[in-house]
Amino acid sequence: MEGKTVLILGAGVGGIVVANLIRRKLPRSHRVVLVERNKNHVFAPSLLWLMVGDRRPENIVAPLRSLVRNGVDVVHAEINAINVERRQVDTTLGAHSYDTLVIALGSELAPDLIPGLTRGSYSFYEFEETKRLRQALLDFKGGEVSVVVSALPYKCPGAPHEAAMLIAGFFRKRGLKEKVSVRLYTPEPQPMPVAGPQLGEAVKQMLASKGISFHPSHKLVSVDSDNNSLLFEGKDPVPFDLLVAIPPHRGPRVARDAGLVNESGWIPVDRHTLKTKYDNVYAIGDATAIRMPGRWKPDVPMMLPKAGVFAHAQAEIVAQRIVDEIDGVTSKAEFCGPGYCMLEAGEGSAGFAFGDFFAEPSPKLELRNIGRAWHFGKVLFEQWWLAPFGLKKSLLGAMITVGGRIIGLPVKT
Ligand SMILES: Cc1cc2nc3c(=O)[nH]c(=O)nc-3n(C[C@H](O)[C@H](O)[C@H](O)COP(=O)(O)OP(=O)(O)OC[C@H]3O[C@@H](n4cnc5c(N)ncnc54)[C@H](O)[C@@H]3O)c2cc1C
Repeated sequence: MEGKTVLILGAGVGGIVVANLIRRKLPRSHRVVLVERNKNHVFAPSLLWLMVGDRRPENIVAPLRSLVRNGVDVVHAEINAINVERRQVDTTLGAHSYDTLVIALGSELAPDLIPGLTRGSYSFYEFEETKRLRQALLDFKGGEVSVVVSALPYKCPGAPHEAAMLIAGFFRKRGLKEKVSVRLYTPEPQPMPVAGPQLGEAVKQMLASKGISFHPSHKLVSVDSDNNSLLFEGKDPVPFDLLVAIPPHRGPRVARDAGLVNESGWIPVDRHTLKTKYDNVYAIGDATAIRMPGRWKPDVPMMLPKAGVFAHAQAEIVAQRIVDEIDGVTSKAEFCGPGYCMLEAGEGSAGFAFGDFFAEPSPKLELRNIGRAWHFGKVLFEQWWLAPFGLKKSLLGAMITVGGRIIGLPVKT
């Protein structure tokens, strides 16, 4: 059989998984090429621990090459353009042709979309920014800390709540509990609206138990960094002493330029096959726009949240579909919307939510009580993810799978 080239754009969560699985399943006569700008991979969930000093920067980073199976051609380059008609991608290291393309480019952070945000805020959404925030937290002696979701959608629906709880725990440990108050603002009507009112209520209670005040339906318009003041739509200005913002997100530029996105700015795909409107082009992970059953406002449909757990699960489906296509088999692999989230509550504990995000008429999720086991599960997953290919990774993977089965969770590694 003639050798095919599978070209994968972006080596984040989705790109790494899809490249490794295809390489494992296809003979070497077929090429698997992975294009990524960064030589090092950062495990994003651990940025929260870096923020509060539970990890050092070097603990949450691994060389990309160590995470990728032998036989995957890794190209470290900036992707400049995608040309789906010519089946070609232009990069700073030249053009790459493909038979099948997988777009796993994630999302771009765009703090510039909100006036004053870049100058006036800190963030835990990027590695270097998180180090800056870490120092700001260490220097902070007291006052109002505002954690603000500046726009929708954003990746990891749990992250702002986790950040607020970890920050509150950080100041409690430093003996500054009485001097610092933590507030959380979001344009959403409740915490994690896709997860339903019951789970939202449980998260509200978690926040309240940590002394965090929660302010839903607050849409950020601008930040006055000279006067340390937040302007929300239709509200009086709100003062702050330290601003921790989740910046606005947008779809990857090269996908927007290639006309692959819809009016929302994200790539629409078939929610089961992850195919774009082009037969030989798939998209997975944060870059996609996937409608879920249900609406969280009468005029706003539910969209699948942007989270690594979905990028990972979609990568498994797409890898199988591509292998089946190349083998000439009709693929039965379909993404059915399973998801889970370990919600860090600070001081070594976490909650756990899991369920079916495609359930009709709306997602069906369960919440397990806060406990140390969920925090430990997250640590174990972090260690597995960052471990190089080989014995250590296999052993950790086996532990996660067996542990997950024992407690009846839908764990896949
Ligand atoms: C603080 C934080 C905590 C989180 N916690 C969790 C969690 O607990 N659970 C969970 O499920 N998710 C979590 N997430 C979300 C998770 O990290 C993302 O949803 C996931 O990484 C998305 O995977 P992806 O493959 O779609 O994109 P990404 O992992 O973002 O990968 C995209 C890749 O494409 C590369 N790229 C983009 N454009 C170009 C270009 N032009 N040229 C070359 N390379 C390019 C990028 O460098 C990047 O490596 C968290 C995120 C953050 C920020």
